[in-house]
Amino acid sequence: SWSIRLDDVSVTYPNGTTALRNVSLDIAPGEMVSIVGLSGSGKSTLIRTINGLVPVTSGTVAVGPHTVNGMRGRRLRSLRGHIGMIFQGFNLADRTDVYRNVLVGRFAHTPIYRSLLGITTAHDRELALRSLDSVGILDKVWTRAGQLSGGQKQRVAIARALTQEPSVMLADEPVASLDPPTAHAVMNDLRRVNAEKGLTVLVNIHLMDLARMYTTRMIGLRDGRLVYDGPAAEAAESD
Ligand code: ADP
Ligand code: ADP
Repeated sequence: SWSIRLDDVSVTYPNGTTALRNVSLDIAPGEMVSIVGLSGSGKSTLIRTINGLVPVTSGTVAVGPHTVNGMRGRRLRSLRGHIGMIFQGFNLADRTDVYRNVLVGRFAHTPIYRSLLGITTAHDRELALRSLDSVGILDKVWTRAGQLSGGQKQRVAIARALTQEPSVMLADEPVASLDPPTAHAVMNDLRRVNAEKGLTVLVNIHLMDLARMYTTRMIGLRDGRLVYDGPAAEAAESD
């Protein structure tokens, strides 16, 4: 499990929009952390600096033993192999069965020619099945992803990330498109992943209640600035 460190990070997009302003953070391995804030406050940008999807304008980002700044090409691809990503829109191949959607998580650790040919090892296949089992959807393994409910799709996405055997898990609004009971169930899955595997989890949520209930530490952003960093349970709406 990896730490996540941001040191005085600012991000200004090419169109001149400043999304993060001098943000510093130090997340220890195994923490379960939420990022809360209104739409446009910079949550998604923060997450994307950690997997190198958004370059920082100044400051440094480090994840585990790696400095993300300036990393490109094969080194960045290799780093992303260790970072499990979960998105609001699931990012599944809807016409493909659950099994192959999850197996894709292994490809980051596979030479490109093998992943293009879809060649997998027995270890890869076992990891895929075990990950599906751990989020309770092993019975859907041969279902096409497009036929699943939103909650089931997000569990497939979590299983795909687990199949990577990640060192950190980043989730960008994973429950924003789910109804409340399903949102609770998915947050509970993430918390279990954190508790059972000791995996560092960083999750963007626009609902404070869910952040309070399912994470231990909360980061609050407003207009790209860090305005709260403390115990999730004690955070007030006005923070
Ligand atoms: P949140 O996730 O909290 O909704 P974002 O990180 O998506 O916030 O956005 C922060 C600010 O950066 C917003 O003003 C948004 O419009 C802007 N922004 C996000 N992505 C881009 C981009 N690719 N190019 C320009 N501006 C962007
Ligand atoms: P979010 O749920 O993070 O608020 P949005 O719907 O605002 O997402 O943005 C969707 C996509 O558009 C993202 O990839 C984001 O980076 C990009 N984006 C957001 N705001 C801008 C902007 N002002 N200019 C260019 N791209 C943007």
